[in-house]
Amino acid sequence: MFGETYSLFRVLGFEIRANVTWLFLALLVTWSLAEGLFPYAYPELAPATYWLMALTGMLGLFFSLLFHELSHSVVARRYGLPVRGITLFLFGGVAEIQAEPKEPRVEFWMAIAGPIASLFLAAVFYLLAVSLNALGLPEPLAGVAGYLAFINLLLAVFNMVPAFPLDGGRVLRAVLWKLKGDLRWATRWASRMGQAFGLLLVALGLLSFVAGNFIGGMWWLLIGLFLHAAAGAGYRQLMIQQALTGRRVRRFMTTDPVAVPAETSIRDFVEHYVYHHAFDLFPVERNGRLVGQAGLREAKQIPREEWDGTRIGDICRDVGDDARVAADEDANEALERMRRHKASRLIVTEGERIVGILALKDLLHFLQVRSELEQK
Ligand SMILES: [Zn+2]
Repeated sequence: MFGETYSLFRVLGFEIRANVTWLFLALLVTWSLAEGLFPYAYPELAPATYWLMALTGMLGLFFSLLFHELSHSVVARRYGLPVRGITLFLFGGVAEIQAEPKEPRVEFWMAIAGPIASLFLAAVFYLLAVSLNALGLPEPLAGVAGYLAFINLLLAVFNMVPAFPLDGGRVLRAVLWKLKGDLRWATRWASRMGQAFGLLLVALGLLSFVAGNFIGGMWWLLIGLFLHAAAGAGYRQLMIQQALTGRRVRRFMTTDPVAVPAETSIRDFVEHYVYHHAFDLFPVERNGRLVGQAGLREAKQIPREEWDGTRIGDICRDVGDDARVAADEDANEALERMRRHKASRLIVTEGERIVGILALKDLLHFLQVRSELEQK
């Protein structure tokens, strides 16, 4: 995503985060409520009242988005899919569900849970607004409740547009998947709908911009571009996943890896390994077993006059899970690990024995050749 993301709190065991761009959305919403919607709908109140209503409305929107994403997350967790947390950002919220559902039924319920939750909130806020009015309580309270009823209805309707990766697009994908039993075909059509809908929003945004509604026009333009890109990316990601599924790391690794014997002096390490190969890190081995990894950073920590007398095995650092992978592991898992840790190489092991190196560029090469062959 764009820019820094901050962890806020936890709800039901899910970490709730906000991206800096959420702040922009919050300000925009508060401002347009205080200066636009509320003065228009409830004339003759004090300006401070409008701002107070707007602030409450913005907090209500925050709660509504969270409620929507929490419902996706709870259903995902019930079906055993790992959820990394919920992030609020410029265009609303996203539940970071870390695996794709294995069957259409799961995808269907996971996707539709969000719009159902929003419809439920819309009904609750609507009843609240009606009762506040009936009880003769001050107008601003009912006003905010009415706004939240409307915004939740809008969230439910917008998200149910059958355009992947919106919820409605996922529902569409689940239905197509169920009908034909072909996930890739279902994803292709749901993504095409997503791309088309994205372009439609871009066009509407431009029209609205030309008509003089700059902020609204800009807004739809950005959402349209974002959806268009996300729809394409969703399909590519599935292609990659399917291409790698069932293939083990062993198939892609380089078998005789450049590993440094633990007894090597730092001077030899720098001269014969660091200078000769364009790698950042080298596995360090003793009798073929992995004992750590080292690079220029480790060498630099030792004064040069001690380079001859210090062995690399004594200064190398531990190899964590972020830098190694088992030869029999699924290649998807390895790719995911590289992505998560921004690593371009993983040390491949069998037990503690080093058996190879897995390079990102080899995986990408395989994927590229495969997709070129399939386009024919
Ligand atoms: Zn949703």
